[in-house]
Amino acid sequence: MLCLTCKRVRPAASAADYTADRARLITRHGLCVCAPTIPVPDMRRT
Ligand SMILES: [Zn+2]
Repeated sequence: MLCLTCKRVRPAASAADYTADRARLITRHGLCVCAPTIPVPDMRRT
């Protein structure tokens, strides 16, 4: 649940992630602000 880069709580992936424990972690550590790691195909390189 914690981001490995900034050690903060990552955004919830589903409604099931919205738990009381998660809310408490966000209060303590904050919310992850890293850019989403979505693999983008490099179209410039052929
Ligand atoms: Zn992060």
